[in-house]
Amino acid sequence: MKVQILGAHGLESERTRFVSILVDGVLALDSGAFASSLPFPAQEKVKAVLLTHSHADHIMGLVSLCMHAYLIGTTVEVYALKDTIDAITTHVFNGIIHPKFTEMPSSEKPALRFHIVEVYKPRNIDGYSSLAFPVYHTVPSVGYQVTSEDGKSVLYTGDTGPGLPSRWEDIHPDLLILDCGVSNRYSTQGSKLGHMTPELLKPELVEFRRQKGYIPRVVLVHMAPPFESEIKEEAAEVTKELDAKIDLGYEGMEIEV
Ligand SMILES: [Zn+2]
Ligand SMILES: [Zn+2]
Repeated sequence: MKVQILGAHGLESERTRFVSILVDGVLALDSGAFASSLPFPAQEKVKAVLLTHSHADHIMGLVSLCMHAYLIGTTVEVYALKDTIDAITTHVFNGIIHPKFTEMPSSEKPALRFHIVEVYKPRNIDGYSSLAFPVYHTVPSVGYQVTSEDGKSVLYTGDTGPGLPSRWEDIHPDLLILDCGVSNRYSTQGSKLGHMTPELLKPELVEFRRQKGYIPRVVLVHMAPPFESEIKEEAAEVTKELDAKIDLGYEGMEIEV
């Protein structure tokens, strides 16, 4: 399994992009910077987009992606919670902010097609087994474990505050991609912000190891650039304390799982 971090940050600039992750060039996890990170032929190869929640920094790539699909007569297949689908349909593809691509050019073959995701119900998406699990954020949100046919798994939390799944039975990732939006100075606000800090991630990883007996490689994403150097130092501390492998993600990062 090849995992590409197209966007790894919580703010955009000439060197940072919103979070977008691509699995084997065909499955997208969130679509923040999706369109702006890939040439058109690579965009056309993507078979499905799995959204964690409705926030703009995770969905904005859909705007260009759907317009492109409309022009070339294809369909963007998007998987998300019903709440997320309702929010995007009401507020983005509503005929005012953006065309109603769920009905265009026709309802039978639209440029954008939604599929409702239910938590803890494994689902086959283009040969990958996907499992959504609830996470704590400011709007209804899920994370995903995606497993390829050869049994390799990546788990991506999307935006989350403290309290990762207590049901780890079905979770067996080879790679964890975790939200670490801010530095430890925000730890007391973690639940309210709906984001993690290195300090808040530590007990989650300790609990994971207690239940599963290992900690896979960890890649942190969604860093706010003003705090990135702090996050890096604090994550290095956690790495040492847990004897784990924890790296900060970056745009263009490729990981062979
Ligand atoms: Zn969010
Ligand atoms: Zn976000």
